[in-house]
Amino acid sequence: MSDKDTKNPFEEIQKQLQEILKSNNPNVTISPFVPQRQAAPPESTKEETKEQDEVLKRIRAFNRKPKEIRDYLDRFVIRQDEAKKVLSVAICDHYNHIRQCIHEPRLAEKEYNKQNILLLGPTGVGKTYLMRNIAKLIGVPFVKADATKFSETGYVGNDVEDLVRDLYKLSDSNAELAQYGIIYIDEIDKIASDNSIGGKDVSGRGVQINLLKLMEDADVNLFSPHDMMGQMQAMMDMGRGGKKRERALSTKNILFIVSGAFEKLAENVRKRLDQGQIGFSSTRKDEENDSHFLSLSETRDFIEYGFEPEFIGRLPVRVACEPLSKEDLSQILKNSEGSILDQYRRDFKGYDIDFSITDEAILEIADRASRERTGARGLMTILEKTFRDFKFELSSTLIHNFEVTTDTVKEPHKALKDLLLNNPEALNEFLFKRVEEFKTEFHDKHGLDLDFAEDACAKIVELAVKEDRSTSSICEQLFKDYEHGLKIVGRNTGQTRFLITLEAVDNPDAELSKWVVESIKGKEDSTKDKAEKLENSQ
Ligand code: ADP
Repeated sequence: MSDKDTKNPFEEIQKQLQEILKSNNPNVTISPFVPQRQAAPPESTKEETKEQDEVLKRIRAFNRKPKEIRDYLDRFVIRQDEAKKVLSVAICDHYNHIRQCIHEPRLAEKEYNKQNILLLGPTGVGKTYLMRNIAKLIGVPFVKADATKFSETGYVGNDVEDLVRDLYKLSDSNAELAQYGIIYIDEIDKIASDNSIGGKDVSGRGVQINLLKLMEDADVNLFSPHDMMGQMQAMMDMGRGGKKRERALSTKNILFIVSGAFEKLAENVRKRLDQGQIGFSSTRKDEENDSHFLSLSETRDFIEYGFEPEFIGRLPVRVACEPLSKEDLSQILKNSEGSILDQYRRDFKGYDIDFSITDEAILEIADRASRERTGARGLMTILEKTFRDFKFELSSTLIHNFEVTTDTVKEPHKALKDLLLNNPEALNEFLFKRVEEFKTEFHDKHGLDLDFAEDACAKIVELAVKEDRSTSSICEQLFKDYEHGLKIVGRNTGQTRFLITLEAVDNPDAELSKWVVESIKGKEDSTKDKAEKLENSQ
């Protein structure tokens, strides 16, 4: 296929369009693209469509109960009992309503307040994780974004409508599935308009209003005005006469979750409660207290904080997530399905390595993580520090097991060094094995066999340990000219098998030159012999 054939025709049209816009010359004509016969969808697409049909069937017949959802969440998410309860009910109500509307379309015309959710609470305590798991359970697409990346006009930052388009993309352009999706917007507290500095903060307010429209019932154009390629694609699809693409997507059934830490809000609620009842609340400022006051927040607190009443009114379900204690973090490591520790186990398994971990080590990790003050995210930081060098080093040894103790967590470097020192044979054996692998690679690449004398092999391993490099990089460096040199020797002598001696490792170039010279001499001698034999026979 020529380069011309593989070129995307849309790109060409887009380029031309951009030229028109640049030159402002309306007389430029665009050559129409003649659509090719549409190829049959690949197998994988068929599979996906089948999967989507299954999900849609399940949504149309949704009959889960809140307790079932809570039980599912319990497998993955530690604590957050109140949030689990509130979310389970909201989710069931939402998808029950969708089912009812499908079976009784009259219902869809009636006024219904969607169960959009506001999740409050510090970072890393499972707010997103709860929603991701719910979306996974139901099978609907899930999109997450930070509120701070949006701008009112969509020119500087992103357009809030992009989120709906993302749902559509995630659903492989299945509009019905996209309409049942979940949009999660974090850091919503950052778009509260600041009333305190006089006048309203226009941009925060603008984004709120845009979001408000989406949360109600809006028809979002599936091709952003800035997405020329998307527009083109839609045009072409229509030209092909294939399945008609939706042009717009209604947000009526999309569930919106917004979340934020709302640290200042907790403080404001505390003050409000203090005004009503002297000495009612503690002045101690900590996360536990914040969570308590956030759970007592009311609509007026949010309005005072800088939210438009209509905006906050569209978020009827509110729940505060609790901070995670040291014990919670250790529970996450021990009991939550798919915890970050499992991820590390899988990573190590990739190198055929298992590790066990003591209860004390788990507590030590949890303790250090809680001091990071980033919730469960702190676990990742500590685990990464603990395991990083183990992954790097052990993957190049024959050590297949190790134990993680408190010492490992406190001083990973030292623990690793001790482990390696106590298992020198595992490292050496591994390095010897890699020399064997170099032999195989050399044979496969160049058709020449290398044998390594025992002392030569030991010297390569010694160099690898001393220079802290891999055996293959040592061999590649030492024998970089051997392919060429040995081929000359082979041509002169017919030899295809070579013994790499200690001399060759110590002085590879000199040894190779010697072999080449000897082979030339050998060839000359044999030519001379042949000539002499010929002379004698005459
Ligand atoms: P946020 O509250 O900021 O949305 P996330 O839900 O994104 O935090 O949490 C980050 C990660 O930490 C999750 O992907 C999950 O692995 C882990 N995690 C957080 N909270 C919990 C929890 N309560 N139980 C189990 N894992 C959690």
